[in-house]
Amino acid sequence: MGSTTLLKESGPREVFCGLTSIVWLHRRMPDAFFLVVGSRTCAHLIQSAAGVMIFAEPRFGTAILEERDLAGLADAHEELDRVVNDLLARRPEIRTLFLVGSCPSEVIKLDLARVAERLNGQLQGGVRVLNYSGSGIETTFTQGEDGALKAMVPLMPNSNEAQLLLVGTMANAVEDRLKHLFERLGIPSVSSLPPRQSTDLPSVGPGTRVLLTQPYLTDTARELKDRGAEILQAPFPLGAEGSRLWMEAAAKAFGINGSHVATILEPLMVRAQKALSPYKEQLAGKRIFLMPESQLEIPLARFLHRECGMELVEVGVPYLNRDMMQSELELLPHNTQVMEGQHVEKQLDRVREQRPDLVVCGMGLANPLEAEEIATKWSIELIFSPIHGIDQAADLAELFARPLHRRDLLNNQLLVSV
Ligand code: SF4
Repeated sequence: MGSTTLLKESGPREVFCGLTSIVWLHRRMPDAFFLVVGSRTCAHLIQSAAGVMIFAEPRFGTAILEERDLAGLADAHEELDRVVNDLLARRPEIRTLFLVGSCPSEVIKLDLARVAERLNGQLQGGVRVLNYSGSGIETTFTQGEDGALKAMVPLMPNSNEAQLLLVGTMANAVEDRLKHLFERLGIPSVSSLPPRQSTDLPSVGPGTRVLLTQPYLTDTARELKDRGAEILQAPFPLGAEGSRLWMEAAAKAFGINGSHVATILEPLMVRAQKALSPYKEQLAGKRIFLMPESQLEIPLARFLHRECGMELVEVGVPYLNRDMMQSELELLPHNTQVMEGQHVEKQLDRVREQRPDLVVCGMGLANPLEAEEIATKWSIELIFSPIHGIDQAADLAELFARPLHRRDLLNNQLLVSV
């Protein structure tokens, strides 16, 4: 078992806020709409983060809180009711409306839970109105998904049926492949949260075993546990090893014979290791520094060290849920420096001092580091890429090999021009 060095720091942070998660949630549930209750800054952030969707019928928007709203809550309530009524009249296909809180709505203490309750009363079930916070004061970008899923849990029907519930957004194609594998393993019923249609919610109850697909769903997991579900402890399905252990945890919970599981998973492991080997050659021995942002940092560090041979300089994480991360922490090498929280200036000083080969960080930090000739990888890219499962291990490694290759090319070009 690895014995990690768990450290903590606080100070200025450089991370996206929870509003960012709308970008992948609205693609997952096309019958839902995300209405940010915020300022023009919030509208600008969400528009630029989701810029690629400019030609699509948008499934997110912003109810702008103007200066007069900030002065009086009554105005803000009136304005919000007006925006919601206009929106629902214009877009009758919306089945679930998420009111998403922001820094401005929090500052004026706008109680979105009460607003949602009032609107649910008015709409009488035609549209379900839920609320959660995406405010930068209290969330980093992946926590927005945790808030949205937590808000859906109370609407899930009760059931005692023995079933596996996969919790967390994954690419649809990856999810289909994983479900097919679970079927082959012999798990009778597998469903997902979030579902592909917001109203098609899976059931939950004492027969439900939950496998988290993402490591940032602390509040949702707690809520599901309160509904009687069992949260399975396993590493996360990133990399071949993590994905295998993740699937084995489910198989064990359903009493499936280990040799049957091995028959199905072993050929996939052999194929994954073969596909990984060219990237392993490029990555082995390279030093990586992970800044805290997406909450995927610990599973990624585990994969990059154990399956790609990288050296871990520092593994930052926005917050550490030790129970949820236990299986991951056990797989990290002895004395890995895990840093919870952030003091961005101090962290950048450590990066400059250590000169790692690659830094995983937010978009705002990548350019300055690249200018100092340190290769970087945007952590947000990992959230948008289909990286879960044994079959995706090589694609995941390739995401880290690419910036190193690019840096090599740049260095060679510089040498040639000197
Ligand atoms: S919620 Fe806060 S951090 Fe996020 S865009 Fe709005 S003002 Fe900025």
